[in-house]
Amino acid sequence: MKKLIVLFLFALSFGTSAQTADSLFVTPASREALMQKFVALPCGIKSTDDVKTICAKLEKFLINYKNDPNFPDDKFAKAANWQALKSVKMGGYGIGAVIYENKSRKILHAAHNSQMTKLRSDLHGEMTLLNEFEDNPKNKKYRNKYVCKEGLTIFSSAEPCPMCFIRIATVGVDTKFCTAGPDDGMTQRVQCLPPYWRDLASKHKFEKAQSSPVMQMIAHVLFYSYLLDGRHA
Ligand SMILES: [Zn+2]
Repeated sequence: MKKLIVLFLFALSFGTSAQTADSLFVTPASREALMQKFVALPCGIKSTDDVKTICAKLEKFLINYKNDPNFPDDKFAKAANWQALKSVKMGGYGIGAVIYENKSRKILHAAHNSQMTKLRSDLHGEMTLLNEFEDNPKNKKYRNKYVCKEGLTIFSSAEPCPMCFIRIATVGVDTKFCTAGPDDGMTQRVQCLPPYWRDLASKHKFEKAQSSPVMQMIAHVLFYSYLLDGRHA
């Protein structure tokens, strides 16, 4: 019964106006504010749960999650969130990404942020994904010298930051993301770029994905999960 009430409250919170829904995705000001968001998910998370328990409950939820047919990008959102969760379990930042073929919708590669595990400042989720994708000779058919051929999309659990945005623009693929980055995302700030990069970025699509509210919220809380144990400090 308690589970049903939580589920109802969660659904209700997303059933309000777009402005109200947006306010749910603001940067959590504290660990407590983030925990409230974890608890509101329909995953049975309690405010006293530790990181390991939270990860186990999210993992169980994702394994059992059936993609919502009302949201065509749920398949990619689930795969990107799975990667983000994998990173958190390994002690890293909760951002994951996949690259897929637009026509077949086949996922070609999946990866996650590996700054903590590899102690490399540049290894954001999208950067790790592209490095591994480009280094694999099997993916030669999707590439033309150092850029990708038309018809590929990078799907990230969170909106690309300036560094990843520029890398993606250089590689030349479309971009979708599950949750917006109110404080670090680049897609709403393209006008800040120098003219050459602005022009390069305009050649490909970058947009918020059509993924279900629960997938968006999981991507959001995983992004800020470093607040749970201060692993960023
Ligand atoms: Zn980045």
